[in-house]
Amino acid sequence: MDESNDPNLQSFLPVAPTNGFPIQNLPFAIASRKGCCNDEKFAVTRIGDTIIHLGQLEELGFFDDTPIGGRSIFSQPYLNDFLEFGNHAWIEVRKKLIELFKKDNSILRDHEELKKSILFELHEIEFHLPVRIGDYTDFYSSKQHATNVGIMFRGKENALMPNWLYLPVAYHGRSSSIVISHTSIKRPYGQIKPQDGAPIYSASKRLDFELEVGAIVGIGNPLGQPIPVDDAENHIFGLMLVNDWSARDIQQWEYQPLGPFLGKNFATSISPWIVTMEALKPFRCSAPIQEPKPLTYLQETERYTYDIQLEIELQTKDDHTTTQICSTNFNTLYWTLKQQIAHHTINGCNLRTGDLLASGTISGDHEHSYGSLLELTWNGKNPIHLNNGKTRTFLEDGDTVIIRGYCQNKDYTISFGEVVGTIVN
Ligand code: MN
Repeated sequence: MDESNDPNLQSFLPVAPTNGFPIQNLPFAIASRKGCCNDEKFAVTRIGDTIIHLGQLEELGFFDDTPIGGRSIFSQPYLNDFLEFGNHAWIEVRKKLIELFKKDNSILRDHEELKKSILFELHEIEFHLPVRIGDYTDFYSSKQHATNVGIMFRGKENALMPNWLYLPVAYHGRSSSIVISHTSIKRPYGQIKPQDGAPIYSASKRLDFELEVGAIVGIGNPLGQPIPVDDAENHIFGLMLVNDWSARDIQQWEYQPLGPFLGKNFATSISPWIVTMEALKPFRCSAPIQEPKPLTYLQETERYTYDIQLEIELQTKDDHTTTQICSTNFNTLYWTLKQQIAHHTINGCNLRTGDLLASGTISGDHEHSYGSLLELTWNGKNPIHLNNGKTRTFLEDGDTVIIRGYCQNKDYTISFGEVVGTIVN
């Protein structure tokens, strides 16, 4: 166990046992102070419910002896410049934060004036997109999800496409419509083809979510130079929660032969916090065994994934009743982060700082673990029952989808926070 994940570490800042943001987490986000300071954006981290203003810490010289010293990296509206410093710098900054906020360090702990300029309460803060996302790729790495969708549209015999077990399938998404958690999602309009009859122009009637985890690329690769599978994780800064909103009726009519387009690119929501790969290290676990064995460039010397528990709640507008409709785990994904990156770059394609690679819908092997309404209701055939007695096949106006994620061991919990979106007309 390396020092920054020592379960005995404690901060002088208060952390409730169930909080999920102990000093071992230290995720990164971009924030501004509500109704203050010209809405100026800056980088933050968090311990308990206390927000730590990294721009202020930097200005006061606390990062001077780290690789980012002497630069205004954290007073910028995005984390990209910090990401570009690479793995070594991310780890050194994490170590510095642990040193500054651990229980027995009095430098900040006993300095009320300093604390006033650095520490804020959660409710004083508004979050923004943490990175300037260049390119967005959405994978399709859950075998259960691909199988479910295959059965629904092609039948049991040909559920998985012939390529699926050989390569991590993906499509290129659109980054301009990626929005931060709590942004309202406008129900899209488009072409829909009724069962029998010509296509019509209509509001989507089969609006859905997709539970996904996204990886933020920290350091890219030069064009023409693939990233070897065993080196791939050094290129990832951290992970976040993603909701890949999907209009199934628009998607179904448009997707052949080139894949998703307007059924997907109207909105994708992400959570504000990026949990670093360093914080996730204690939660590595085994990944599903692959049969057939993939080609050499996809074979990892050390094959593992992460134990991230994921949950979806649906909240209705009328009475604000909340129902948990899915509980699943990131560790069910067949293709790992390392394999996704090795495959993405095997043709020489260059990833860049700030790119978002989403996992694809994460579905486990039982009905309550499916990560989309398409699967939970089996294409609308079996409505799900909510705690207020109502049912749903697809999302209605006013519905709010809340996705949460966390890692837990016997010592502590690392929370990803949540990604929230409400459907409006
Ligand atoms: Mn997706």
